[in-house]
Amino acid sequence: MKVLVIGGGAREHALCRSLSLDPDVTAVHCAPGNAGIGEIAELHPVDALDGAAVTRLATRLGAGLVVVGPEAPLVAGVADAVRAAGIPCFGPSGEAARLEGSKAFAKDVMAAAGVPTARSYVCVNPQEIDEALDAFGAPYVVKDDGLAAGKGVVVTHDLALAREHAIACGRVVIEEYLDGPEVSLFAITDGETVVPLTPAQDFKRALDGDEGPNTGGMGAYSPLPWADPELVDDVLTTVLQPTVDELRRRGTPFSGLLYAGLAITSRGVRVIEFNARFGDPETQVVLARLLTPLGGLLLHAARGTLADEPPLRWRDDAAVTVVVASHNYPGTPRTGDPIEGLDEVAVQDAPHAYVLHAGTRQDGGSVVSAGGRVLSVTATGADLRQARQRAYDAVGRIRLDGSQHRTDIARRAAEG
Ligand code: AMP
Repeated sequence: MKVLVIGGGAREHALCRSLSLDPDVTAVHCAPGNAGIGEIAELHPVDALDGAAVTRLATRLGAGLVVVGPEAPLVAGVADAVRAAGIPCFGPSGEAARLEGSKAFAKDVMAAAGVPTARSYVCVNPQEIDEALDAFGAPYVVKDDGLAAGKGVVVTHDLALAREHAIACGRVVIEEYLDGPEVSLFAITDGETVVPLTPAQDFKRALDGDEGPNTGGMGAYSPLPWADPELVDDVLTTVLQPTVDELRRRGTPFSGLLYAGLAITSRGVRVIEFNARFGDPETQVVLARLLTPLGGLLLHAARGTLADEPPLRWRDDAAVTVVVASHNYPGTPRTGDPIEGLDEVAVQDAPHAYVLHAGTRQDGGSVVSAGGRVLSVTATGADLRQARQRAYDAVGRIRLDGSQHRTDIARRAAEG
């Protein structure tokens, strides 16, 4: 089977890497990809948001499966276009992807399905905004209703800031603050059968100690030694299956990857958000631990035959990812800087540690930065302590002028 992956971040690099290790996958193609993906897949300069162009490419390649990585092409209906041409596609329809594309829609589905989440109001004018902020009190949680790549959310004690962000958003969801550690749990689904993956934790804030602005994610680890062993089963029964059932009931079945962002509060698990695709950087650690071949699993989901898939197999080791970001990220990042040390990691740290590329491109003979998050340095180890050590050893070999990374990814969990 030939597989075409849509997207060009570290998540897609991780997907391409796992797909290339699947014995049933004969070739991996990626559009548009990045410098690192180009080493393991054939790249195609096709606009990921253009469903017709993606479908033409998949047809020309004879792809047996298309995997859509990012949210924007899903919301734009790229998976619908590919499926309409009779090609199996891993990723929800544009309608079902609204679970991520609209926070208000997600809240409505959760209410109908009885899924536990933060109480919230959808507000469209300053009066409603003031009433909602007043009703919940500090800390204030204000979310842009549209897609904002994880950056449309403001959590603050500062009322003026909360109000300013809410008014700037237009249509906005204001909700109750959820206290407690966060867990990301992914599930593969064909619209009916739901197969949860292993839980991971990511680090959203830019700076050590969870300080600084929210980002797309600065690192991740898996497994979670502190989590309740019943967590996955609980979330499957109370969150994942009811959500998938509700979307099927509405006539817009969700097939693809359902990502539940959860808060473990003192009153139980609550959904913070849903995403309609693999999360970045959690995918990097989750796939590092998955033993089941990825291509067959995603094909079962795309074809609606997930019930036939045997139970997933996992490595019982640990994985840690540390994101190396550009100068000034998550503000306007500086790009075009050369990245050095990649060869040293390949020689000295492989196979336990490896570099997944995010915002990179080939410039003549060298690899240069091309985005905010530049690299996802990923390592496995017998436990989190060893995986963490290996990841940071590899990070230490990389030279990118002005780059930044957190130094505390998985620290507490590794010490715990
Ligand atoms: P989201 O895009 O909805 O995942 O929000 C981004 C981040 O904001 C989450 O990962 C949380 O860290 C934080 N956040 C979102 N909603 C809440 C909430 N209701 N209570 C506390 N923190 C939240």
